[in-house]
Amino acid sequence: MRKLEKIWIDGKLVAWDEARVHVLTHSLHYGMAAFEGIRCYKRADGRASIFRLRDHLDRLYDSCKIIAVQIPYTQEALAEVCLSVLRANNLLEAYLRPLVFLGDESMGIGATDLSTRVAVIAYEWGAYLGEEGLRRGIRAKVSSFSRYPVNAGMTMGKLTGQYINSILAKREALSLGFDEAIMLDVDGYVAEGSGQNVFIVRRGKLITPPPSAAILAGITRDSVMRMARDDGLEAVERVFSRDEMYIADEVFFAGTATEVTPVREVDGRTIGSGEPGPITKKLQQEYFEIVKGAKTRYPEWLTFL
Ligand code: PMP
Repeated sequence: MRKLEKIWIDGKLVAWDEARVHVLTHSLHYGMAAFEGIRCYKRADGRASIFRLRDHLDRLYDSCKIIAVQIPYTQEALAEVCLSVLRANNLLEAYLRPLVFLGDESMGIGATDLSTRVAVIAYEWGAYLGEEGLRRGIRAKVSSFSRYPVNAGMTMGKLTGQYINSILAKREALSLGFDEAIMLDVDGYVAEGSGQNVFIVRRGKLITPPPSAAILAGITRDSVMRMARDDGLEAVERVFSRDEMYIADEVFFAGTATEVTPVREVDGRTIGSGEPGPITKKLQQEYFEIVKGAKTRYPEWLTFL
């Protein structure tokens, strides 16, 4: 990762190398922290806009509510911080990472006297699954690791500790020569990727697991559903099994980092023709137009720098 100028931590912009924590930092030991991943894009007209900043911050506050951690800043203040971190690093296009974590005052699972610390980092991040992946589609593998059952993981929260499950799945998929993992829930229904939501297209209909499934309710997922419905496409939220995914006409991933990435193969089965399908291509094109194109189809989703 290329080092940039400044990171915001606990109320101050500090030099990149000075944004350090003590090794006793509680969140480092037990994984109790919440975070977000947000993208800012340079648009075709030269301006820069953050995509769905308010929605990402809403989710950050929801994640903290789930783990009963109080963020010591207002949401408006944190939105302003996100803009200031981009400006301080002269970034028009970047990935923003707000992180809420617990301090180093005590150890132990039962510790209650911990400070709540907040950092906002901006860094450069290209196509998460590669430019070629965006264009041609990627190869995915159903993971041997299940998603947390809903009363074990708090999957509605974007919580750091839960990403052990994702990392194990992703590393397994990579070590077997695949690009990404598709994770099932404990009943065997398709849940999501290691860091992205999954969609299938069958007979012209778009299908994705419902928010009540063991998934993070992605903001890109929500954007795709809205775009598809506004295009007149039938888009439904329901569970589906891995065999229904094998016989889908199209499969794709959606996420902030992943953007809209076609999946051309799952577990060695070619999806559709093996090329990104027409609905995936259309939604991908529309997505990029919305996040960085000349026309702003959903102006309420953009925060200009
Ligand atoms: N699921 C998981 C597990 C994720 O980490 C992400 C990325 N935040 C997503 C889905 C997609 O969410 P979003 O579109 O809000 O980035």
